Amino acid sequence: MRIAMIGTGYVGLVSGTCFSDFGHDVVCIDKDAAKVDALRSGRIPIFEPGLESLVSSNAKAGRLRFTTDLAEAVPQANAVFIAVGTPSRRGDGHADLSYVYAAAREMAEYLAPGTVVVTKSTVPVGTGDEVLRIIREVRPDLDVSVASNPEFLREGAAIEDFKHPDRIVIGCEDERGEQVLREIYRPLFLNKSPIVAMSRRGAELTKYAANAFLATKISFINEIADLCEKVGANVQDISRGIGLDNRIGSKFLHAGPGYGGSCFPKDTLALLKTGQDYEAPLRIVEAVVAVNDNRKRSMGRKVISAMGGSVQGKTVAILGLTFKPNTDDMRDSPALAIIQTLQDNGAKIQAYDPEGMEQAAALLSGVTFCDGAYSALEGADAAVIVTEWDAFRALDFARMKQALKAPILIDLRNIYVRDDVEGKGFTYIAIGR
Ligand code: NAD
Repeated sequence: MRIAMIGTGYVGLVSGTCFSDFGHDVVCIDKDAAKVDALRSGRIPIFEPGLESLVSSNAKAGRLRFTTDLAEAVPQANAVFIAVGTPSRRGDGHADLSYVYAAAREMAEYLAPGTVVVTKSTVPVGTGDEVLRIIREVRPDLDVSVASNPEFLREGAAIEDFKHPDRIVIGCEDERGEQVLREIYRPLFLNKSPIVAMSRRGAELTKYAANAFLATKISFINEIADLCEKVGANVQDISRGIGLDNRIGSKFLHAGPGYGGSCFPKDTLALLKTGQDYEAPLRIVEAVVAVNDNRKRSMGRKVISAMGGSVQGKTVAILGLTFKPNTDDMRDSPALAIIQTLQDNGAKIQAYDPEGMEQAAALLSGVTFCDGAYSALEGADAAVIVTEWDAFRALDFARMKQALKAPILIDLRNIYVRDDVEGKGFTYIAIGR
């Protein structure tokens, strides 16, 4: 199959590269000329494990190319995927669909008859209808199919997720759309990843329902963690105790500083807006969003109380900035609100993250970025683990004690065992235990 992928960010680049690795002929298109130049010369603009070598091998094999020019890719394509961003619209939380609609309008004049246009971006119900309307506006007589194929990959494990998905959701309004998508995903289907075919609107909504459900699990266990702290129980016991029940499942039951990232915060908000527009309010999701909003700054207050109730003039070492490990993505990371809360209360911040410091520097001010975990701890009054990077899972406590002014460890990801840390002479504060 010949595939054009419009938008070469986390999703477009990973999807395009994996499709080419299946043997399809893929051209990735992006408006950002610097990104395209970098990719052409073998540099990967994002951090994603395994991606660099996969891009390089497929580019060498001639199956993967990069361009800024739609005319180079769209006319020959059997399928044109839209994988541009759908951030929250400023002010009201609706998904900002301007990039999706711009892509539809721009591609329209180049589409050959019979092409399948596929929305891979996360888009609200009805967006496919509008994409079709826009294309028809430019090309009233064009024979075209518009389908939905939401993406479920996780940053940090994106290639593995793309190549071994739990399921592939395709939403089509005609047979051609379904046939082309089945052919594109055939290599995975052979590996027994089920294809779940449904209507276009159903596929659009499935993506939001999935993210809202996962966000619900996180907010649920975070509230249970708060209760555990009050009643003297350990939230990790509860997670295991309920997670082993197959009906519940153990994933997304790790208490922590609240969810962040480029998807859950914006997608839960956008789903709420869709619910309001259709007069079907989603009260559970409303509560999930409110609980999470409150949680991020409350984690800052937790640090302050662990440090004796005031951080005025004190230095806090922050280990981990990205919203989760194995990514450089800082979008809506809990670290942003935690650091802001600490700064608002007069703290100085020394921070280290293995991959996220460049992106973090663009979003944070007044932070001293350090070149390693131990240099971030140097002279600090407490250490806070915000992201559970592997590099922080086996810290040398003797070295930490030497570097820190006071041996206080606040572990917002519950990666240490209390007795071990306290045995080394630290005050240890964790989540829900
Ligand atoms: P991103 O911001 O990393 O990438 C989007 C890219 O699209 C950018 O490089 C931008 O320059 C390009 N672009 C925008 N308009 C364009 C146009 N008209 N023509 C060509 N290029 C254009 O975004 P992302 O994180 O890859 O997310 C893309 C979509 O996938 C979003 O809807 C998101 O919700 C969804 N999604 C993301 C993830 C994730 O983990 N990041 C997972 C699943 C789904």
